[in-house]
Amino acid sequence: MSDKDETKTGICYLVGAGPGDPGLMTLRGKECIEMADVLVYDYLANHDFLRWAKPDCELIYAGKKADNHAIPQGGINELLVEKAREGKIVTRLKGGDPLVFGRGGEEAEELVEAGIPFELVPGISSSIAGPAYAGIPVTHRKHCSQLTIFTGHEDPTKEESSMDYAQIAKAPGTKVMLMGVKRLRSVMEELLANGGDLETPVALVRWATRGNQESITGTMATIADLVEKADFKSPAVTVIGDVVGCRETINWFENRPLFGKRVVVTRTRPQASGMSRQLRELGADVLEIPTIRIERPEGEKLREFAELVQDCHKYDWLIFTSPNGVESFFELFYKLYNDARSLGGARVAAVGPGTAAKLKEFHVATDLMPEKHVGDQIADALKKEIGDLNSLMMLWVRGEQARPVLREKLLSEGAILDEGIAYSTVPEMGDPTGAVKRFREEGADIITFTSSSTVDGFLDLGLDIPESTRIASIGPITSETIEENQLVVDAEAEAHDIPGLIAAVLKLASGKE
Ligand code: SAH
Repeated sequence: MSDKDETKTGICYLVGAGPGDPGLMTLRGKECIEMADVLVYDYLANHDFLRWAKPDCELIYAGKKADNHAIPQGGINELLVEKAREGKIVTRLKGGDPLVFGRGGEEAEELVEAGIPFELVPGISSSIAGPAYAGIPVTHRKHCSQLTIFTGHEDPTKEESSMDYAQIAKAPGTKVMLMGVKRLRSVMEELLANGGDLETPVALVRWATRGNQESITGTMATIADLVEKADFKSPAVTVIGDVVGCRETINWFENRPLFGKRVVVTRTRPQASGMSRQLRELGADVLEIPTIRIERPEGEKLREFAELVQDCHKYDWLIFTSPNGVESFFELFYKLYNDARSLGGARVAAVGPGTAAKLKEFHVATDLMPEKHVGDQIADALKKEIGDLNSLMMLWVRGEQARPVLREKLLSEGAILDEGIAYSTVPEMGDPTGAVKRFREEGADIITFTSSSTVDGFLDLGLDIPESTRIASIGPITSETIEENQLVVDAEAEAHDIPGLIAAVLKLASGKE
C-alpha cells in the first residue's frame, strides 16, 4: 500500500494514557493503541503501552521533558494532520487526561481546521490519581467540598502572569498543582501572602501510580525547604489541603510489600505480563527486560517436527518439558487433525505444574509429573511408575536448547526416543519500552530468572549488574547456570514456578533470605 491512500480517510485519536500504572489506561485507549498505524507519544505516557501497538506501527516520540521539547507543539499538530491525511489511523497518547493541562484542546482545534476526523478519549488525570495513590482523597466530606486544579507552570513573579494567586489562595478546599515543582517556593510564598495558612498540609507525589512513585509531605511553611533538601524533582503533583492528613490512615499503595523495589523480569514478552502484574500488585517497580523470544520451527525444522506430531499416536509416552513445547505441539496437532482422539493412547508426562496447566488448556490430563520439577527427573519418575522402560516408544517435545540429560537417561534405560523440536529460544533485541535504558541508568534491587536461557540472554545484553542487586532463581538448574556465570543466587524458589519465584522475591525484599 502506498503511503498516500486517497480512498481511506485517516482519523486521529487523542488519548489520555493515564498517570502511568498500566491498569489505569481506559479500554478505549487500549483499542486506539491496537488500531494505530502511527502512535505519537510523549514523555509522561507510560512507554510500556507501546507493546500493544501493531508490529508495523510507526512510533513517534514527541518528547516534552519540561525544557527539552523533542518536537515543538506546532510540529506535533502538523504531524498529526499530515499522517491522518495519508489515510492513517493516528493515535496521540498523552499522559493523564488529554484535556487537563494537556493541550488536547489545541490539537483538536487544529484537527477541526484541517478537516480530520478525531475522537477524544479521556484519561485518568494525575491530578486526582496521583494523590489517590499517595493515600490522599482530593475531596472528603469531613475536610472539603471544593477542588481547585491549577498549573504551576507560570512564574508567579512574572508581571504578565495570568494566574490569580489571590483567588487560588482564597478558594476553600483542596488545591492541586500540576507542574511547577521548580517554582514551588514562589507559589507557596504567593499563596501565603494572599492569606494561606502556614500550617496547611502539603504533599508532593512524584511519578505517581508507577512503581517508582515517591512522595514527600510538609506544610505550606516547610514544603519548599523539604523538597529542596530531598532534591525532589518533577514530574510531581502537589496537593495542598487538610485531605493530605488522610494519608496517615489510607496510604495503601506505598505500604505494599514490594513498594520501592525495582524488580527485573526476564521472561519472554508474552510470558512476562502475568508475572509483572503480580509483582506490580505487590507494589514493585517492574522492569520487563525480555531477553529471549520463542521462535516456532520453520521450513525443514517445521517439516521434521510436523512428521513427529502427525505420528504422535504411535508413542507410549509423550513428554513435555515446558509450556512452550505444549503450545507449539498442540497448535500443530490441531492443524493436522480435527479430532482430539487422533492423539491415540499415549500417556502424558509433564515436568511441572506450569506445563501441566498448559496441557489442561488443551484438555489433556497429565499422567505423570516428577516430584522435583526438573526435566531429567522425568526419567526417574517414569522408572518408578512403570519399572522397565525398555523398548517403550517415547516422544520428547522440547526446545532446541534443552539440556541432553533427559535423553541420556531415557536411552540408557532402553527407551526408544524421538525428539520433537517444538521451538527455539533466540535473543530478544531492542528496547521498545526503555526498560534496558532504565536498568542501565538506575540499576535494580532484584533480578528474577525463570530459566537458564533467560540467564544467558540477560548476560548477552552485556549490562553491568550492580553489586547490591540480588538475584532470585526459579530452581536448581537455573541457579546452576547463574553460578556458572560467577553470579550469586540470593534466593531460590522453593516451588519451581512463578508463584514460588514471587515468594522468593518477597523473602528477599523483606530481608528474610
Ligand atoms: N494531562 C496530564 C497533565 C499534564 S501536565 C494529566 O491529566 O495528568 C504535566 C504535569 O502533570 C507534570 O508536571 C506533573 O505535575 C503531572 N503529572 C503527570 N503525570 C504524573 C505522574 N505520573 N506523577 C506525578 N505527576 C504527574
